[in-house]
Formats: sequence, structure tokens, C-alpha cells
Amino acid sequence: MAEHFLGLDRSARTGDRKVAWCTSVGPAELLRAMDFDVYFPENHGAMLGTTRLAMDYIPVANAAGYSPDICSYLTSDVGAFLRGATPLTRAYDIRSVPRPDVLVYSTNQCRDVQEWFTFYARRFGAPCIGIAAPRSVGELADAQVDDVRLQLEALVPHLERVAGRPLDVEALKRTVGLSLRATRLWAEVLGTAARSPAPLTFFDGAIHMGPIVVLRGTQQAVDYYELLLREMRERVRDGVAAVEGERHRLYWEGMPVWGRLRALSELFASLGCAVVASTYCNSWVFDAFDPSDPFRSMAKAYTSIFIARSEEVKQRYLEGMLERFAIDGIVFHDSRTCPNNSNSRYGLPQRLQEATGVPALVLDGDLNDLRCFSDEQARTNIEAFVEQLGG
Ligand code: SF4
Repeated sequence: MAEHFLGLDRSARTGDRKVAWCTSVGPAELLRAMDFDVYFPENHGAMLGTTRLAMDYIPVANAAGYSPDICSYLTSDVGAFLRGATPLTRAYDIRSVPRPDVLVYSTNQCRDVQEWFTFYARRFGAPCIGIAAPRSVGELADAQVDDVRLQLEALVPHLERVAGRPLDVEALKRTVGLSLRATRLWAEVLGTAARSPAPLTFFDGAIHMGPIVVLRGTQQAVDYYELLLREMRERVRDGVAAVEGERHRLYWEGMPVWGRLRALSELFASLGCAVVASTYCNSWVFDAFDPSDPFRSMAKAYTSIFIARSEEVKQRYLEGMLERFAIDGIVFHDSRTCPNNSNSRYGLPQRLQEATGVPALVLDGDLNDLRCFSDEQARTNIEAFVEQLGG
């Protein structure tokens, strides 16, 4: 991660490589294949959350007209920018986020990313291009995949202009191949938690997911997850538990509460609960990548993600996960500023419980804005929920 950020800083300062900003489930492979150095503002948002600096900067964005009800990645990131601050300074001695040559978004996850990137496009005078992706997708239709494929292909001439070079399709195939390998390894890493005791939890996954978000399409990501998978397999073989005396196996649905990762991890562990699986960490498992058909397979991979699906598809997916990971209880995080990643608002917990018998807890909170999260209330609710699980 240090190399990633230092490299971006160098590219932006020297102009040696063009810098492209990309949304977390945007077309990173296309950008990398064109030799852009790729920066992911959501990752920066998560750093603002984990360091809790978000709380200093959200009000700055609010004062500039960005509502406290919209994505708190956006508000903390924009607020930090307006103040000329970044957690990269303390971590890597980097003074600012890398200046973009182009910003590329996909609305497959939400509309906020488009507004977020547009803010920076205005500030830096850089082109902002993107994909308007289908949302609430039930069964994925060929027409939807083809729509996104055509939009992806339409980005190419714009990117070629900025990059000053034509797209090398063989490079794209190689990059998609590397993403496929990394994502399969990441899926296997997460899959090791199907064993009991689980060798890692959702809270570990929230850290180890860094490379699959910001380095997919590179050999480094493949190497990282090969190493991690070996370690997880050793832990399974040796019976090393992430949570000593694992009594309950829980599922986390929704965004992490970044500023409370450690606190929640310790709270669950103290109650003998291993949070063994999550939708969030699995959101970077892309089965559909196919190096022989890069554009169509990217379109399919990035359109079939959980966040872009209908309630029915989401329920089916969750039922499968609860069974596969032998889950006793599911925690839905209702993240105040991210309705897109909050799945407790249209009756899904109730329907899921009826279908599977697995009890659900809805936890109020937020990804970055800790004003929406009460430590006391969360503790009381979690303790009561775990007590109800018995055992
Ligand atoms: S999905 Fe949610 S957290 Fe992510 S950028 Fe969109 S609103 Fe923000």
C-alpha cells in the first residue's frame, strides 16, 4: 500500500505517468491496461474513517453545501481537501491526494460517486467520464450487459486522448487475467472462514481487502493473496481461531463502521462471536472476468455486483451465505449516509429470518460519521442479540 501511494504521489508530481481516479467497482482494468496510475478516493475515504479524521472534515463539506445526509466518504473526503489535509501525510509523508488527469466513475454502486468526482473535476479542470449503470437488477439480461459494454468501449477514445496512446487490447486481456486471479484468491481467503473455528473475521477482511480494491489487475495483488491464502490454510490446519472459543458465527451485512473497527471487533470477540462473513468483503469477488472477452466480461462482472441487484437477488445471495458459513445470526448495519449499502430498509431482515430462521439485528450507525453511531446503544443491542442466540 505504501508503494501504491508513494507511486501515485510521484506520478502526480513529476507527470511521469498519468493519474486516473476510479470508483471502487469502476473499470480499473481498462485504466491500468492504458498505463494510468490508478487512485481510488473511496479508499481514501475509508482512511479518513479509520483514523476518525472524518469527524473533523465532514462539517467543512457541510458548510460548503454538501448535506450531512449524503455519503460520508464524500463529505469527509471533500472536507479534508478543502482544508488541504489528508491522512496520507501522517502515514506516508505525502502532502496531498494525487492530482487527476482524468476521473472515471460507474454509478453501479450509487449516484454519490458521480457527484463526488464531479466536484474534483471542477476543482482540477480534469475530464470526468463514466458509466451510467443499471441498478436494482434482477436476473441480469444480455441487453443490460451489452449496454454497459458499449459504454465501456465508448470510454476508450477519451482515455486514449488523455493517455496519449492507443489501447493495447492484449494488455487489457492480461490485466483482466490478473484481476481474475486476484479475485479468485481473495474469494478463497474469505472462504476459509467457512471452517470452524474461522481463521479470520470480517474485521480482518476489512483490512486485507485493501489490495483487491486498489491493486486488482496487478501482480502485487496476486502475490499478496497467495501469501494470505497460504497463511489462512495453515491456520485452518493448525486449528488457529480468530476468536478463541468461537461460540457463535455471525454475518455482517452493510458497510463497516470504519471508526469503530477495533471496538466492534473486540466487543464481538469478548462475547464469543466470530463475525465470519460479510457482503462487503465479498463485494470484490468478481466471478465473471474472462480475459478472452475483456469488455463484455468486465461489463458483466461490474453489473452483477450485490449492491446493484434487486431485493430478491440479494435475499437469495444472503440465504446462500448464511448456509455456507453456518451462520447463527446476522447483523444489518443501517448506515445512515449510505442507503445504497444499507439493506434493512425494505423488510429484508424479516423476510430472510422467515425463510432461514436466522435471527437478525439492525444496528444504526454510519461508515464514517460517528455522530450517527452510539457506542452504548450498539453495545446494549449487540449484547441482547447475542444473549438471545443462547448456546
Ligand atoms: S456506495 Fe455508499 S459509501 Fe460507497 S460511495 Fe456510494 S454512498 Fe458512499
